[in-house]
Amino acid sequence: MKELSSSQIRQMYLDFFQSKGHTIEPSASLVPKDDPSLLWINSGVATMKKYFSGQVVPGNPRLTSSQKSIRTNDIENVGRTARHHTLFEMLGNFSVGDYFKKEAITWAWELLTSPDWFGWDPEKLYMTVYPKDADAKMYWEKAGVAPDHIIPVEDNFWDIGEGPSGPDSEIFYDRGESFNNLAADDPENYPGGENERYLEVWNIVFSQFNHEPDGSYKPLPRKNIDTGMGLERVVSIFQNAKTNFETDLFLPLIEKTQALSDGKKYGADAEDDISFKVIADHARAITFAIGDGALPGNEGRGYVIRRLIRRAVVNGQKLGIQGAFLDQLVPIVGEIMQSYYPEVLQQKDYIAKIVRSEEDRFGETLTGGLDLLNGLIADLKKTGGKQIAGPDAFKLYDTYGFPVELTQEYAIDQGVTVDQDGFKAEMQKQKDRARNARGKQKAMGLQHDLLINVKTPSDYVGYTQLETHSELTELVVNDQLADEATTGTVEAMFDTTPFYAEMGGQVADHGDIYDLDGHVVAHVKDVQHAPNGQNLHTLAVVSPLKKGTTYDLKVDQVFHSKVEKNHTATHLLDKALREVFGEHTQQAGSLVEGDYLRFDFTHFGQVDPADLDKAEAIVNREIFAELPVKTVVTDIESAKKMGAIALFSEKYGKTVRVVSAGDFVTEFCGGNHVKNTNEIGLFKITSESGVGAGVRRIEAVTSAAAYKYLNDRSVILDAVAADLKVTQTNDIETRVQALQAQVKDLQQKQATLEGKLAGQQAGAVFDNVETAGNYTLISGTVQVSKMDQLRALADTWRDQALSDVLVLGAEVNGKANLIVAVSADKQKQVKAGDLIKAIAPKINGGGGGRPNLAQAGGKNPAGLPEAMSAASAWLKEQD
Ligand code: ATP
Ligand code: MG
Repeated sequence: MKELSSSQIRQMYLDFFQSKGHTIEPSASLVPKDDPSLLWINSGVATMKKYFSGQVVPGNPRLTSSQKSIRTNDIENVGRTARHHTLFEMLGNFSVGDYFKKEAITWAWELLTSPDWFGWDPEKLYMTVYPKDADAKMYWEKAGVAPDHIIPVEDNFWDIGEGPSGPDSEIFYDRGESFNNLAADDPENYPGGENERYLEVWNIVFSQFNHEPDGSYKPLPRKNIDTGMGLERVVSIFQNAKTNFETDLFLPLIEKTQALSDGKKYGADAEDDISFKVIADHARAITFAIGDGALPGNEGRGYVIRRLIRRAVVNGQKLGIQGAFLDQLVPIVGEIMQSYYPEVLQQKDYIAKIVRSEEDRFGETLTGGLDLLNGLIADLKKTGGKQIAGPDAFKLYDTYGFPVELTQEYAIDQGVTVDQDGFKAEMQKQKDRARNARGKQKAMGLQHDLLINVKTPSDYVGYTQLETHSELTELVVNDQLADEATTGTVEAMFDTTPFYAEMGGQVADHGDIYDLDGHVVAHVKDVQHAPNGQNLHTLAVVSPLKKGTTYDLKVDQVFHSKVEKNHTATHLLDKALREVFGEHTQQAGSLVEGDYLRFDFTHFGQVDPADLDKAEAIVNREIFAELPVKTVVTDIESAKKMGAIALFSEKYGKTVRVVSAGDFVTEFCGGNHVKNTNEIGLFKITSESGVGAGVRRIEAVTSAAAYKYLNDRSVILDAVAADLKVTQTNDIETRVQALQAQVKDLQQKQATLEGKLAGQQAGAVFDNVETAGNYTLISGTVQVSKMDQLRALADTWRDQALSDVLVLGAEVNGKANLIVAVSADKQKQVKAGDLIKAIAPKINGGGGGRPNLAQAGGKNPAGLPEAMSAASAWLKEQD
């Protein structure tokens, strides 16, 4: 076996397919772009959907990549199998309607066995094929695979419901008898079975059918190849490692963890080894995911990161690691992956900071969770229960971040178990909620046949002119190419166009199409890119349009100019936010409209309003500095040298357009901009809020809209000044503060007066002592504004020992209130609570209290006098 490092192996795969005419695509961001059906990029093909669906035609139909991927469904497998990770790299080669089965198979065999490439022993390799796929079997045999190394397996059909589907062929490496974990006669003991001896390294999918909505399979007009080879598994074979973890991709992480533990050694104890592996695996996934702009949070991607960090921390505890440690693994991940992913090491401080703060946060809930868990177990012991209920286990998991495995292990030590089914049921509910939140699954669409074949060139000239004289070259009416359109909504292409097609956050232009006599023939409603890149206009037809005819195309200039201002302002804002919050701040989405702009960016925690003010001031500073805005078209490398900011998630062609505003900001951008920042006039942020985990959203306006926003506020301020009778708006604040002080003062005075008034009324009421049976009674209604004052009166009554029983009523805010008090020496015979229960119905209410004092509220103030007489009557009935 050749001695190769993981970087050499990755490169060898890419080199091989490059030598077969493939273009190497960079590893795309783990965060899917424009694909709500996926939480994470989970395979190479996931980044190629747009090519396979025909939405975009790739420059070269042969592509190859090493794609970082995250599979959360394998979390439980990590550390327990030799071959599963959460983050792994998938090497792949792709044919978009170009070569098919024969080449895919022949090349696969060449890569695996040729001494110039992998040079593996053919004896060790086994291929599975779909039983009905005679071609695959034939090509493998022709390539040189022994017939008894080709195994038919019924499952080898790749099908995700409606959309492209087809048979696949999986390649297994026989790791030898010493890896066998099953009995010789175990039915799983074959290449393709669930075992450790035969390791699946590669899957080649021949997508040749379309799974129709009616369940039938129709051959696809263009057949595709997509393949996936797990880099870590291949490395384990080359490096003769027992599992993927004893390779150069993981060992430095394990060694560091060992050094941090309380003397634990990797390889000494099976349970500890699982912890070492989990930590090494999760450290990679967390580092890459955060590097790609995701952040720990409570849902979606954020939740996955949180879960991985907590799982790693708990495993660290098992190894006796004290306190936070994961952040120390971040730079090691960066070093291991540096050759292909230099950006990780560049961002290491930022990533480590986020990991650290999440670890610290879990450190806090860890104790809270343990308290809850101990409480639950103590309760169970008291009642003789044996099982922690599912919802409790879920609460520990969900609120305190306790993985259910941890709860289970802990519980077993204490002699109880966890209701796993109940937990799963709660978990399922949560998953359903998450899935609904992610939106409906979008199946890979059918190939977009109609426009894929339309290659008629169309030039966008809107950077320099907003009106053209252009020939209508293609018309689409009712999803068919047509020569004429008479009415309704149709789509059209022109040989040249000044209309911008929606892209990079900037909305499409609108405007009108005129015939050469100057009559409007159509309104432009929308413009999008066709698969081959032309601008495709959606038109509302006013009068008949003909292919081959020349028209005048005119962009709505007012709208366009607003969009330009907002777009340049977006670049200024992007840079301003980096200045305020640090270079790691990433754009997470943007919308450039005519009326406003919206900008999403990654930020951990709340945004301080003072920082927002700073960013706004910086943008305005650069507007007032009158910076010239320049664009150049150049190659990617030169653009990067110019310091242009590119989005990691974005893929760029050979040449790129770079837009700069003075020396302040330079960005890759294909959009429309002002010629000088002074055209923007003014910039004003109108709102800032959180959207999803770790992403903040700013909305802002420029120019006339900014003036209107500020002026509307100024008008309100003037009106307030007039109401307050101040002449200077500057005086408003002092005036308002003075008014607030005055109100407070008045409230105090009022309370004092009311107290006095109540005292006087009480004087009158207290004078009237009647005898009811064996008791003396004072009763009456008084005027108070709060229940408190009734209680104060009762205190006065008690101090002066005026009678045995007191019943007071008051109407407060349209409601009736009653209070009953009984003197200390009569509480044995008469209880305040009993008396109030007897009389409260008169005011349509209820109440209660202690033997000495009770109160009640009701909806019927008119019943207060009746309540008083009822009190007297009730007392007469008592002994
Ligand atoms: P397995 O049955 O081993 O889980 P799979 O059938 O899920 O593999 P595919 O979806 O066919 O795998 O992915 C293609 C290749 O990607 C696999 O052959 C394997 O080499 C690699 N791979 C898949 N899942 C993982 C994972 N969780 N960790 C590491 N490599 C993986
Ligand atoms: Mg799998």
